[in-house]
Amino acid sequence: MKALLRVLLMTMGTVVCAQEFAPLPMELDPLTLDAVPYEPVVEVEEEAGDNEDFADEVSEVLDVPRDQTRVAVLGYHNFSKKAPVSQMLLRTSEFREQMEYLRRAGITVISMKEFLEWRLGTRTLPARCALITLDDGWKSVYTDAFPILKEYGYPFTLFLYTKYLSGRGDSLTPAQVKEMQAHGATVGSHSVSHLYPSSWKKTEKQGPEAYAALIDAELGESQKKLSEMFGPVNTYCFPGGYVTPGMIERISGYGYAAAFTVLPGKVTVSEDPLQIHRYMIFGNDGSVFRRAVDFRASQLGTSVATGASPGTLAPDIPVPPFPVSPQPQETVAPDFPSITAYMNGVSGLDITTVQMKVSGFGVVPAKVDEATRTVQWVLPCRIYMPNISAHVTWKDNNGKARKAEWSFNVDPNAPIQTENPIP
Ligand SMILES: [Zn+2]
Repeated sequence: MKALLRVLLMTMGTVVCAQEFAPLPMELDPLTLDAVPYEPVVEVEEEAGDNEDFADEVSEVLDVPRDQTRVAVLGYHNFSKKAPVSQMLLRTSEFREQMEYLRRAGITVISMKEFLEWRLGTRTLPARCALITLDDGWKSVYTDAFPILKEYGYPFTLFLYTKYLSGRGDSLTPAQVKEMQAHGATVGSHSVSHLYPSSWKKTEKQGPEAYAALIDAELGESQKKLSEMFGPVNTYCFPGGYVTPGMIERISGYGYAAAFTVLPGKVTVSEDPLQIHRYMIFGNDGSVFRRAVDFRASQLGTSVATGASPGTLAPDIPVPPFPVSPQPQETVAPDFPSITAYMNGVSGLDITTVQMKVSGFGVVPAKVDEATRTVQWVLPCRIYMPNISAHVTWKDNNGKARKAEWSFNVDPNAPIQTENPIP
């Protein structure tokens, strides 16, 4: 129910400054990765077993040395064939398209066991892998996603919170979980009660003992209870991505080998095992999936070659030739404070000509500091659009028009931040 409440809160948050948003005009088709006009799907017939049509069967993919593997961890929530899509709710047919994309692109879908063995050093994997995770335990995981996962033979991980396992409302039943375990599901913990950051903070204020007790209850007890119900549980997923040093300090004591966040990025063998990156796949924004399955060096933050990429990927937008905040492809909380371009290093810049444009807002009244050549727009309200693009235009001393653009993501589940993230 917490997750449902969160969706409602998100919707309310959007309404607060709804007049400032233009509807998202485009949606990216993850199969072609071309921009196509967005048409809401009314109903989609699910046809099983029609994959023989594809002539591009991928031959067996070979393993590479451990430090050359990159894993895209995909995070899903809720699914529906008909209900309006949202960040948390993905059209079932789009989920199928994404699973098909993984197959056609030759991305190896691995189990949590394989992931952990690779991390520990007892197994090698192909260069490009995906780990499928599904949070909260929505009934639609069983009714909508599971048949598709089974059809493709993809293993997956269910991050469950123990208070949402009754079968009441939209929750899964333990029997459904067990059935999925028999067909490739691994169970991980998503706490006991899926607390909001405000609850954590309230308890933290009561002192270290109370805080430790709550961490024991949420992170420790959920591990015990889920292990009793479903067999050994050794992975954790921070609800809403909210993670604190206090949690990290205690988490290994509960028997967790790995813990997952909601911050996107490819996972390497050397990444911190207790704050593993994940791409949260939004139902109303195909661009996250597109980035998740893009294994080119520019999307990895590394120059390590990782094998061939699917040939259909669109070219990257070049990053701005000056520092910006939020950074390109960074994921921020809905209340990030400002969009800033630090243009001091731009040669021949006529600072009086600078203009900033932000998707959904048009030209914004950005403040230009002529001394530091900083251009900044302070946000008027929280933003829940999943993806925002910012454009900065200017003229150089010869009167030639210049432009830089970048985009970044807003994660509705991210802990609300009060500090300005500008470096
Ligand atoms: Zn959750």
